[in-house]
Amino acid sequence: MTAYMEHKDLSNVSISEKRIWEIADGVHRVMEEIDRASAAAGRHPDDVTLLAATKTRDVGEIMAAIAAGVRMIGENRPQEVVAKAKGLRRFCARRGLWLGRADDGKALAGGVSPAGDGASVSNGSVSNGSRAADVNTAADVNAAAIAAAQEGHLRRIPFHLIGQLQANKIGKVLPFVDTVESVDSLESAERLNRRAQARGIVVDAFLEVNESGEAAKSGCSPQEAIDLAMRIAALGSVRLTGLMTVGAHVDDEHVIRAGFAHLRSIRDAVVSSGEQGAGSCRELSMGMTHDLGMAIAEGSTIVRVGTAIFGPRAFV
Ligand SMILES: *Cc1c(COP(=O)(O)O)cnc(C)c1O
Repeated sequence: MTAYMEHKDLSNVSISEKRIWEIADGVHRVMEEIDRASAAAGRHPDDVTLLAATKTRDVGEIMAAIAAGVRMIGENRPQEVVAKAKGLRRFCARRGLWLGRADDGKALAGGVSPAGDGASVSNGSVSNGSRAADVNTAADVNAAAIAAAQEGHLRRIPFHLIGQLQANKIGKVLPFVDTVESVDSLESAERLNRRAQARGIVVDAFLEVNESGEAAKSGCSPQEAIDLAMRIAALGSVRLTGLMTVGAHVDDEHVIRAGFAHLRSIRDAVVSSGEQGAGSCRELSMGMTHDLGMAIAEGSTIVRVGTAIFGPRAFV
């Protein structure tokens, strides 16, 4: 258990009006930056999705970002996923949204709360408590919300894991996250595949590539990335849907951009290979607070932003 989790209640939902406005302001500024960078690159802004990197942020802060328009969430640590998922799903359901995967029966255990404590469900749509619902137990509400999400009545908010996933934590996150962005070896992909298969689900995965070669970073080497991507794409219960990298920690823009451009070239090679399962490898998750403009110029489809939305982190 990470030390800061003992100091901050991540399931907290009550935050100040000032904090809500700060976060909304951050979201809007980042969205404007995405629009500007997309326009400069001759790209459509809808082709770039803002993922809020929510490590160390509590449920109230994350809901403020969602209220301001964020439609994709990324967590680093399985423990944080578990600490927040239940509260986030409850508040998302009140807004007609569903967070994360909707195809796992075991997600019932972490779904929305009982009627009366927030959202209630009737006729496949979620409303605010007051309207009488014909379902009363937590399990019924969860089942109805999941059904509504599956049928497309609730708009889905993808829930990604963007940090390392240890083998013994896979079971914790699979009920909640739809995509694991940090797969960086065949072994970790095969482990994920076995666990997904056992649950009867398919989990989306990105191959993480260490484009900068910095020792502190995770990810496979750029040299082995294409071969590894093909092997992962061939697995039955893992669907390879993209590639992820963290930009080089240097000042030289050319070096940072070259890493992003190289990730794009790997994606293009994988997609055009025609190999089984390779065609779905379309996403490029690259770009954070300090380099998202460069990443968008190089073809990023998902930018992962924490600091520019929520401010500096008190804990790493
Ligand atoms: C924290 C984190 C981010 C966001 O970083 P900021 O600089 O705060 O925008 C993006 N990706 C990963 C993998 C992270 O851990």
